[in-house]
Amino acid sequence: MTFSVTILGSSSALPTSKRFPSAHVLNVHERFYLIDCGEGTQIQLRRFKLPMSRINHVFLTHTHGDHVLGLFGLISTFNLLGRKTDLHVYGMDDFQELLFRNIEYFTDTMSFRVVYHPIDPFKVETIHADKHVQVTTVPLRHRVPAVGYKFTEALQPLNIRKEFISRLNLTTADIIRIKAGEDFITSDGELIPNSELTYRAYIPRSYAYCSDTLFSERVVGLVQNVDLLYHEATFLHTELELARQTGHSTARQAATAASKAGVKKLLIGHFSSRYKDETQFLTEAREFFPETYLVNDGQTFSVEQKKGDDASNSAILS
Ligand SMILES: [Zn+2]
Ligand SMILES: [Zn+2]
Repeated sequence: MTFSVTILGSSSALPTSKRFPSAHVLNVHERFYLIDCGEGTQIQLRRFKLPMSRINHVFLTHTHGDHVLGLFGLISTFNLLGRKTDLHVYGMDDFQELLFRNIEYFTDTMSFRVVYHPIDPFKVETIHADKHVQVTTVPLRHRVPAVGYKFTEALQPLNIRKEFISRLNLTTADIIRIKAGEDFITSDGELIPNSELTYRAYIPRSYAYCSDTLFSERVVGLVQNVDLLYHEATFLHTELELARQTGHSTARQAATAASKAGVKKLLIGHFSSRYKDETQFLTEAREFFPETYLVNDGQTFSVEQKKGDDASNSAILS
């Protein structure tokens, strides 16, 4: 069961010959979720052989060109291909009119519906949940309203610990109730909590995408313990003042956020095109958070499944 993110674009506002503007694709169990849609996203989807037609959800962080300009072209291509499935777009309120005016101007008839979901940039909200993943907003601090997104794999169904079936003489009806989350009361009146009776086969995996943003303690609190954190690092710490003025972070700040949040792995990107040697970002960040990786367009980062079949894990999940 896959849980991986592929980098389509990793530059900041100015693209380079090696880096397209921001866009990531999250693959959860072969369902594809697009996060940001910088110019050229559809080209990158083709180049890295991702199934474009299976993207049904697009999560935009904010209305800056390097995060949204690719959506117009992507929607136009979907229409030329005769797409039928609804496309759900999540983004700032101000982008909605712009998007639909563009669609109206360039398209006579649409073969599919674009359903727009305006986001409140100040609230922490679960904005989407399906059988595979739950998506929660992470308010960011940028020059304009912006949110990051935390993707958490859906909980696996509860399994019953086999030893209890014979020990407690459980009937089929008992088992169904316990699997639905209920505790069990024995004939002697003893209550056995559900967390002792059940476990989940796997622990949910998580990915958080935070771009563009200043360093923020609130963000740190909202991305606690995620498996994979993408945090922008537009500048090196020598340009801290410039980062502050433009609403961006330095590599050191991205690493500090990862360290404070106790994440497993940090990905950094959104590098300013002023730097010719990006390994400086890695060196700076690893001093504060050794599990840092610099992203390049076309790279995929996977999170392995973690077994949850012991008592301590099932207790954490219940
Ligand atoms: Zn940006
Ligand atoms: Zn921005």
